[in-house]
Amino acid sequence: MQVLSVTSECVPLVKTGGLADVAGALPEALAGMDVRMRTLIPAYAGLIGKLGKTSVVWQGELFGAPARIVAGKIGAAEILAVDAPHLYDREGGPYLDAGGRDHSDNPARFAALCRAAVEIAKGGLSDGWTPDVVHAHDWQGALAPVYLKSEGVDIPSVLTIHNIAFQGLAHKSMLKALDLPEAMWADGTLEFWDQINVLKAGIVCATRVTTVSPSYAIELQRERFGMGLHGVINARSDGVRGILNGIDDAVWNPEIDAAITPYSAKSPKAKAMNRTALLKEFGLADTGGPLAIVISRLTDQKGLDLLPDALTAYAEAGGMMAILGTGDPVIEARLRQSAERLKGRVAIKIGYDEGLSHRMFAGADAVVIPSRFEPCGLTQLYGLRYGAVPVVAATGGLADTVIPASPASIGAGVATGVMMRETDGLALHTALCDLIALYADQPTFAKMRKNGMTADFGWARSAAAYAALYGEIAK
Ligand code: ADP
Repeated sequence: MQVLSVTSECVPLVKTGGLADVAGALPEALAGMDVRMRTLIPAYAGLIGKLGKTSVVWQGELFGAPARIVAGKIGAAEILAVDAPHLYDREGGPYLDAGGRDHSDNPARFAALCRAAVEIAKGGLSDGWTPDVVHAHDWQGALAPVYLKSEGVDIPSVLTIHNIAFQGLAHKSMLKALDLPEAMWADGTLEFWDQINVLKAGIVCATRVTTVSPSYAIELQRERFGMGLHGVINARSDGVRGILNGIDDAVWNPEIDAAITPYSAKSPKAKAMNRTALLKEFGLADTGGPLAIVISRLTDQKGLDLLPDALTAYAEAGGMMAILGTGDPVIEARLRQSAERLKGRVAIKIGYDEGLSHRMFAGADAVVIPSRFEPCGLTQLYGLRYGAVPVVAATGGLADTVIPASPASIGAGVATGVMMRETDGLALHTALCDLIALYADQPTFAKMRKNGMTADFGWARSAAAYAALYGEIAK
């Protein structure tokens, strides 16, 4: 089975969030299942330089200028980089310019990625490779199924929704510029409140639609979570399949993690050394209470606007918190103020720092994730793996991966975390109180920790589900 993955980010080349982890881990996990996956990604500035030995496998034109597809490898992963300097070779991140605004031509930038996918599906690569299935991710990949359909290319496609909040909207005057047929506007495939909605079109055109947890698959069908697309999703007779993300055990594994003092569920003692180091790194004084962390985009989605108000009582009760993140300037400023006010108990580093995130999971007693919605979420999985007990909202993948502490689950010896039924200030406050109480009961807390560390969130099960899905639809 040959699969072309179409993605805007992929670890270790470029990452802004969970999609990159998934796109990076899936090919290797699938390799053992007789699926060869090649990953198509824009050649952002400097990306091709990371690929080692490369060869040009396609040359042509994409949206008004010459472009190439360059094949190379990073580790074992086979990368196909769309080299279109007029679209990708510029300052800033994959989506935002250096000033933090969307690149104004984002619709065209990712339409070009999808056009390149279709060139490959049509057999355009000079090395002769063609996919049996095209697997597109999020709105940036969503035009791949659309172009396959509009051009009558008979290759099945999967569209995976990692976050329905980002849909790829464009003014309707862009139809021609994006190489989209009028007929697909007229029949409603592309149209959404008089704009082009790329994700909507992908949902309509893909052979199968998946998302990254079973709970989010159900939530997407509801008005509250569907962000205007719940009706489009409900109109698909086969619905949306929820396949939980896994974690990459070679990267996220406290037994072999080079960034930390290693430890394991069997001999967890060295975790204490990581805890001491983390307290020091953040300038916190040990109260004997729990050391919680937040590692996140600082946004309303993540519920982190609720955190400043919850921190005072938590810190006064002996809780400590180390925060790493960037995002909404208002949330950043409020958290900075909290850290200032609660010095020694609460500390924050604004920024994106992968190495530090490893040290934080290793040193933490808990990881706090009060999301309003969370398609899958990875930080609760890293927390489980590293013995940082997740404190989470009951939504999406958080609800699917954490077993909430209750008299019943503690009695049965299966609890792995603390769960908020709602995402509001009261629920977060209560959850942090529960964390302090559970931490004070060390035998129970140690059992919860161990349960999480020994739970299996590797990629094998998820990769098998994707492999089965490809098998269902491949010709
Ligand atoms: P999302 O994709 O919605 O941001 P996920 O939990 O699925 O949320 O994935 C977030 C990923 O990004 C995780 O791997 C997390 O550790 C990482 N991450 C988020 N913020 C930071 C940060 N400031 N520094 C380092 N890693 C971060």
